[in-house]
Parts: sequence; C-alpha cells; structure tokens
Amino acid sequence: MATRVIPRRILKSVRYNTATKPLNTVQPSLTPAIAPQPLLEKPPCSAPEAAALCLDDAERLFGSVSTARLLRSAAVLHATAVGPMVDLGMWVMKSPVFQSGLPRDLVMAATRQTFFSHFCAGEDAAAAVKTIRALNDDGLRGMMVYGVEDAHDNEGCDRNLDGFLHTVSVRKLLPPSSVSFVIVKITAICPMALLERLSDLLRWQQKDPSLVLPWKQDSLPIFAESSPLYHTQKRPEPLTTEEERDLQLASQRLLQLCQKCEEANLPLLVDAEHTTVQPAIDYFTYASAIKHNKDDNPIVFGTIQTYLKDAKERLLLTTKAAEKMGVPLGFKLVRGAYMSTESKLADSFGHASPIHNTIQDTHNCFNDCSSFLLEKVADGPGSLVLATHNIESGKLVVAKAHELGVGKVKNKLEFAQLYGMSDALSYGLSNAGFQVSKYMPFGPVDMVMPYLLRRAEENRGLLAASGFDRRLMREELGRRLKAAVF
Ligand SMILES: Cc1cc2nc3c(=O)[nH]c(=O)nc-3n(C[C@H](O)[C@H](O)[C@H](O)COP(=O)(O)OP(=O)(O)OC[C@H]3O[C@@H](n4cnc5c(N)ncnc54)[C@H](O)[C@@H]3O)c2cc1C
Repeated sequence: MATRVIPRRILKSVRYNTATKPLNTVQPSLTPAIAPQPLLEKPPCSAPEAAALCLDDAERLFGSVSTARLLRSAAVLHATAVGPMVDLGMWVMKSPVFQSGLPRDLVMAATRQTFFSHFCAGEDAAAAVKTIRALNDDGLRGMMVYGVEDAHDNEGCDRNLDGFLHTVSVRKLLPPSSVSFVIVKITAICPMALLERLSDLLRWQQKDPSLVLPWKQDSLPIFAESSPLYHTQKRPEPLTTEEERDLQLASQRLLQLCQKCEEANLPLLVDAEHTTVQPAIDYFTYASAIKHNKDDNPIVFGTIQTYLKDAKERLLLTTKAAEKMGVPLGFKLVRGAYMSTESKLADSFGHASPIHNTIQDTHNCFNDCSSFLLEKVADGPGSLVLATHNIESGKLVVAKAHELGVGKVKNKLEFAQLYGMSDALSYGLSNAGFQVSKYMPFGPVDMVMPYLLRRAEENRGLLAASGFDRRLMREELGRRLKAAVF
C-alpha cells in the first residue's frame, strides 16, 4: 500500500461527519441538463466545501489506493480507451484458435492479471468478499454481481439461481454495511424465450385491454402511452401448458431469492436489459416489490433506463400506482446500455429508435428522473440508486440531495459506478459524505469475460471517456514518484 497521505481516520470523518456542515447552496434545479464534460475546470477544494463534490485533488481522491493498483488501473484504462483493443478482445473471444489448449490458457492467464482483475471482483464469491472488504476499508460499498449469461432452459436457470442464493449467503462473511445490493438479471433465472413470450402478451394486452392473461399477478404499470409496442406485430397465442409451468418455476426462483434477501435484510436489485424482454422483467420486478417491499424498506429494486423516450412517463405512472397501493419503491436510474441493439431492432421493424434522438435529451431525462425521485424519497418512503459515471449528473444530484437533506439518511440514496470505472467520482462522492457502491461482477474468467466484452462493445464511449480518471491517476503517480512515496 502507498503511504496514506491523509490518514484514513481523518478521511472517514470527512466522509461521514458532514451532517453538521452547512448544506451546499448550489442552485439545485436539475431541469437544465448539462452535457458531460470530459475534463473539469479546477474548482478550489477547500475544507468548508468538504460536503460538496470535489474532484480536483488527485492526492485526496486516490490517497488510499496502492501504487501497484494505480499503475495497473492507469494501464488498463489506457488500453480499453483504444477502440481496436475492444475489437481485438471480441475477435480473440470468438476465434476458434483461442478456444482450447495452450493459446486459450495463455489468453486466460493474461486476461486474469489485467482486465479481469481491474473490472471484476474475483473468480468466485469468496474472492469477491475479499475485494469488497478492501474496498470497504476505503469507504466504498459493493454491489455483488454474479456474472452469468442469459439462460435458455430450466436447468441453466436453476444453476444460476444457486449462484445468486450463494451470493446472498456469503454476504454474511462481511460487515453488513459493506454490501449494498445483490444484483439479479431476470434473464438468468427465467428462460429467454419465455421472457419474450410474456413480453409479447403484456404488450398485446396494452394494445387490447380485453386480452385476458390468466397467469398475471398483481403488478404495477409497465407501459405508458408513449411506450414502444412494435415488437409484437400480431396477437400472440396464449401460453401453452408447458410455458405456464416454466413461468411458475421462474416465479418460484425469484420468490426464493427475494425471501432469502428479505431474511438477510439485503436488497435485491434487478438489472434492466433490452426492450424485447424488459416488459416481462418489469412485470416480475413489480409483482415481487408488491409482495416484499414493506414500510420504508424496499427489498426489491427495479431499474429505469432513461435513454428510453418513454422512461419518464412510465416512472410517473409506476410511482403513482405504487403510492396508491402503499408500496415503497426502490429504483436504480441508469442511462442505458443497449443503444445499438435497440436501434437495429427498431429499424428492422421500420420504426424510429425508442432511444432519445439526442444525447442531450437523455441527459435531461436522467436528470429530471433523478430530481423527481429525490423529491419522492426525501418526502416519503422509497429509495434511489444513481448509477452513473456522468460528473455533471453527479454534481446536480449532490446539490439537490444536500438541499433536501437526503444524502446522509441511510438507504435513501446510493451512488454507484462500475468497478474499475470512474474511481475519482466514487471517492469524490464518498468524501462528500454519500453512500457509494461499486458494481462488482464476479465468476470464473471464461464465464465473466464474454459478459464484460459484450458490455464493452455496447459501451465503447464509456471506456473512451475514462480520460478524466486517467489524468488524475497520472497526476497522483507523478506526485508519488517525485516524493518517492510508494
Ligand atoms: C452501477 C451501474 C449499473 C448499471 N446497470 C445497468 C442496467 O441494469 N441496465 C442498463 O441498460 N445499463 C446499466 N448500466 C450502464 C448504464 O446504462 C450506462 O451505459 C453507463 O453507465 C453510461 O452512462 P452514464 O450515466 O455513466 O453516462 P455518460 O458517461 O454520460 O455516458 C453517456 C452514454 O450514454 C449513451 N447515450 C444515451 N443516450 C444517447 C443518445 N440519445 N444519443 C447518443 N448516446 C446516448 C452514449 O453511449 C454515451 O456514451 C449500469 C451502470 C452502472 C454504473
């Protein structure tokens, strides 16, 4: 470890004892969204502003990170910022040459030491526990992400469920506050084809409310007037007996997982995926929220992708219906990670993309939804996870959260960034007194890398935009070199 420039004790007091400091008086309106700026101008980072988001002091941000880790992070982020590196990774993953024997072993060994260690928490839950413990020492928390791919049959779903259940169990090895969520992908515990069928039926019922769906449980609105329904071109056949049985099995898997999370008092966060299956994912999420979210303590959280044109309208409808039913909701807000898939799909149906026409519209939607939900959780039950690397969105939320007094209230607001990404923002938010989590995939290298590369392929912009972190890391490495601090 590097010589700690600011003692951890003092850092922690800066992070957690800010409640008595004056609230940030920055204009809190989130309506005029601002495009992300790759590099920030240097605002002064003086002591009275400790409660604000301060990202210019590399020494303070990375003080607890070892020099070896800083060097590896800077190198990996430089490599992934180069588009051809992602292409090379995809090519290697698909090439038959690297599927077996020595070439495969060599690729796996190199990957394990570099990209895998940087972006993943470990090869199994026990390794993830170690990584989370180290992260927690630095004031951050972990979202445990068992990194599995989509399942296509019940056997695959059962295997995946075991992995998710085991993840909840190993959390007991850690201090409770060090893990914020267990993440689940519904596509891992319900066969993909069934999710498509359910989504088709739900969409058709939205078009034609006379369609009766006998299997449908109490849920919350999953469509708005503006929601895209083009995926379902003709009235779908009802579920077959076998599909109904598979649906029951999938519902039981989710129920088992929710119950385990409820017993462990550990919230379950459901990831959002592409619109082909998202109606079914939302249906499962809200049906589970109705059963398990009690008082002011949501156990089941859903995800809203604000790059979708209908996101805000849907969010308003869902929250209104939940309020009426007295169900506290938890949401993770993201911009969305399936841009090219969505555009290609809409195009194949001759429809406009469901994604906002401009990135500025997406920023506005993200910031508006954040503002709306912050006000909701400040005033009533429910909880919000802001999953973003966008510094401007982070600043706006910090200002608004300070104004509303939400920041320090446990379980009301959590910021989240991907493990290995935007560490400066994570440490900056934590220094400003907020709860911050890292989204930490774990699992065997050959299982997790395809998942990561697919996300990298969809999110090239995200990797290329790591310039802000890389600059700060270089600054801190330079400072240590000059001061001979390693
Ligand atoms: C903790 C965590 C959990 C996540 N979970 C999910 C999840 O469950 N489901 C999911 O889909 N994604 C998820 N993501 C990924 C997320 O949706 C984004 O892809 C990623 O975080 C980049 O967005 P950003 O908010 O960090 O913003 P920025 O760094 O500002 O990135 C903006 C990106 O938005 C994209 N974009 C959006 N709208 C437009 C548009 N109209 N025109 C052009 N580009 C546009 C571009 O690719 C651009 O690079 C998660 C991210 C995090 C950090």
